[in-house]
Amino acid sequence: MNAENPENFTPSGDLPPSPPTERLAALPSGEVVARPASPPSMDESRTPAELVEWALQKFVGQPIVMTSSFGMEGCMLMDLASKAIAKHDLPKLTIACIDTGFFYPETKQLQKKLVERYQNLDFVTWKSPVSIEQQAKSYGPNLWQYNPNLCCNIRKVQPMSENVVNYNLWITAVRRSQTKSRADTPVMGWDWRYQLLKFCPMVTLSRPEVWSYIQEHDVPFNQLHLQNFPSVSCFHCTKPVPGSSPESDARSGRWSNDDDKDECGLHYQI
Ligand code: SF4
Repeated sequence: MNAENPENFTPSGDLPPSPPTERLAALPSGEVVARPASPPSMDESRTPAELVEWALQKFVGQPIVMTSSFGMEGCMLMDLASKAIAKHDLPKLTIACIDTGFFYPETKQLQKKLVERYQNLDFVTWKSPVSIEQQAKSYGPNLWQYNPNLCCNIRKVQPMSENVVNYNLWITAVRRSQTKSRADTPVMGWDWRYQLLKFCPMVTLSRPEVWSYIQEHDVPFNQLHLQNFPSVSCFHCTKPVPGSSPESDARSGRWSNDDDKDECGLHYQI
């Protein structure tokens, strides 16, 4: 794995603060001179659009992948990436969808719309090597009911682990306020589990900010968000939440039978 650290960030986490456009430096003679402006570094005061532009230029020529299950955040990030690619004439970005085999029809329809709209994104699908039939045969039917962690591991984490090794940079649309385990997510950090750089340009955003962007830029989104689904995953494990709206910041519709589970496991750190 070639995962060299870009010069503008610290391996332990976030990027250093933005430098001023011009710095004054004192020479030994006492003369004060202006140093040339430094290239912009990326930190949390940068907008997600700026962060995405920076990363896609910084890692150009290297294998980069963004994973998405077509949540609202992911749709926004695809729009940002597509615009950055067009603006800087960059190569296509790979968007990997981990298809569990349990997507709602509305999610499939959204996937089709995104593929049609974003021609400079390269959509690929990763699937578990274990078919749904094999899973049922090995573990019994409805594994998601009595062992959702194992089901998520087979259907999501395994295909992720097998495929992401081919990339140097993993881009995701996670936000800190989504779950407790995401609360400390850095903008850029080393993912020890998959052994690559993980870039999360939307960590500081709130759900209403995401929803505003989606509306303002006419980004395709899952129509289930208009039917009380704050987030959408597999149909076995995602239910509508009465009273919720597209800007509800909740994953309470996920794994509603399991109070302890709020992650599929893709983003767990070791
Ligand atoms: S979300 Fe549910 S059905 Fe989907 S992989 Fe996880 S446990 Fe299985």
